Amino acid sequence: MKQSFICPRCKGYLNVGEHIILAAESKNGEPGLILFNPELGNYTTMKNPEFKTTEGEKYEFYCPLCQQKLAADIHDNLSHIIMIDEDKNEYQILFSKIAGEKSTYKIVGESAEIYGDHHSNYIDFINLSHTK
Ligand SMILES: [Zn+2]
Repeated sequence: MKQSFICPRCKGYLNVGEHIILAAESKNGEPGLILFNPELGNYTTMKNPEFKTTEGEKYEFYCPLCQQKLAADIHDNLSHIIMIDEDKNEYQILFSKIAGEKSTYKIVGESAEIYGDHHSNYIDFINLSHTK
């Protein structure tokens, strides 16, 4: 797998080895790093066991390089990063901020690929933003 993931703000590379590294913050302001699998639809994550996450709780994700919020415009429950494939094509990747909620969208132009058991939660917002 040769795709890269970058921050939409600073364009820094977020993936190292087999992980995408994002800074997260819980509702209570507790910060932690979460390592995501770069394979879309694979929700295996790694983190320090002392950084506890709770299913169903919302976490805010930040770029570990520029500390900007990785917020998506279309819904407050979604984060946004950019994927670049081997051919340098750019895709907008949206994923849920809610722990345990499996909703991921890969968007290029007017088409979207969807991943995860809970993808229907935001599909209306995805469609809306691309039919305008
Ligand atoms: Zn950044």
